[in-house]
Amino acid sequence: MPNYIRYKPDITSALFWFMKEIVLLGSTGSIGTQVLDVARLHNIKIKALSANSNVNLLADQAREYSPSFICIGDEDKYDELKRLIDDRRIKILCGKDGLCELASLACDMVVNAIVGTAGFLPTLTAIEAGNRIALANKESLVVGGEMIIAAARKKKIKIMPIDSEHSAIFQSLAGNEENRINKIILTASGGPFRGYTSEMLKRVTADQALKHPNWCMGPKITIDSATMMNKGLELIEAVWLFNVRADQVEIVVHPQSILHSAVEFDDGSVIGQLGVPDMRIPIQLALTYPKRYASCAKPLSLTDISCLTFEKPDDRVFPCMDIARSALEKGGNMPCIMNRANETAVKMFLDGKIKFFEIPEKIQWAMENVSYSKEISIDIIFETERETDEKMSRIVS
Ligand code: NDP
Repeated sequence: MPNYIRYKPDITSALFWFMKEIVLLGSTGSIGTQVLDVARLHNIKIKALSANSNVNLLADQAREYSPSFICIGDEDKYDELKRLIDDRRIKILCGKDGLCELASLACDMVVNAIVGTAGFLPTLTAIEAGNRIALANKESLVVGGEMIIAAARKKKIKIMPIDSEHSAIFQSLAGNEENRINKIILTASGGPFRGYTSEMLKRVTADQALKHPNWCMGPKITIDSATMMNKGLELIEAVWLFNVRADQVEIVVHPQSILHSAVEFDDGSVIGQLGVPDMRIPIQLALTYPKRYASCAKPLSLTDISCLTFEKPDDRVFPCMDIARSALEKGGNMPCIMNRANETAVKMFLDGKIKFFEIPEKIQWAMENVSYSKEISIDIIFETERETDEKMSRIVS
């Protein structure tokens, strides 16, 4: 019998002492529901849950986990949610203020699994409130990495990465804090269109782009994986989380998604983390670090896989990685423009308003046409997003 099953009966009580209560933002999404799988397995108590519009699932989750607070991002859904929840012990909140109220609740950890820039303010609020944070919402670091890292340093908060690549890098760096690193090897599956030519990308459909070969994820990150913008966002995330330069991050395509990323040290040693592609592994580690416990994921059999391959990404066919590098180099609000333009372009593609190959074109157009600011602040981020939305909607209509 494999170890992960044999050890299972012992883990619940062993875990109970360290993690009492979490606040989970984005509980109805792909990451959010997997966080709840981990919480269910280890009896982790849920203090608060949030969604944007999926009131039915949020209400089901509230009935199962009995949180003290729930929040619906879309204020128009508040009344509907209230009708579904007949429990006076649950306080129901809504909108951005409600999300920030949840993020600042006293708890053992805030898990941010919101998709997109809507996650930025809750991340910052959680850190400023002195809460430990497990971060899936990479967009937070893309739009406001400087502010988030400064706040985390000031409050002495460790940001636990949930993204599998950043979890792998975090694990590879553990115990090596004093050692110089040469580079981070950020692995990418290559997405559903690996090996395609630019000509072939002109004909791809949303259904094809939504079929990721290895991971089952929310629609936005699945499209980001198909354009390789996901790697661009992750490169920026890595630069902020691990205090490295962009030129120290090498993106390597690894179609099997078994090596989740690695670090090359000064002496030429490369340390990486391997595992089956199952987000519950990095999610659980973010919650239990530095302890490791048995998880619901299948064990890895290297002999079953037998072959791991690595190749250089094709930057000409997939320009989003270079776009992200140039946004980071320019700094200020440029990553914010890029990120918002990407979010909008992905939505336009899924709504059938633009073609797949136009996504990077629209992002580049926004980076050339939205007002640039070298400074960054919360107000500048909101104004940049407003201007990007407005200009993007004009070019498409
Ligand atoms: P999903 O689309 O599956 O879920 C997103 C969650 O955020 C849902 O709960 C959704 O609520 C909520 N949400 C959406 N928009 C808003 C908003 N404007 N305000 C408040 N809440 C909102 O996304 P994923 O779970 O796939 O991704 C979440 C984050 O994790 C992303 O940043 C992604 O890049 C990152 N990530 C995801 C991975 C994965 O395997 N899925 C892997 C690594 C990182 P509702 O359901 O009501 O719309």
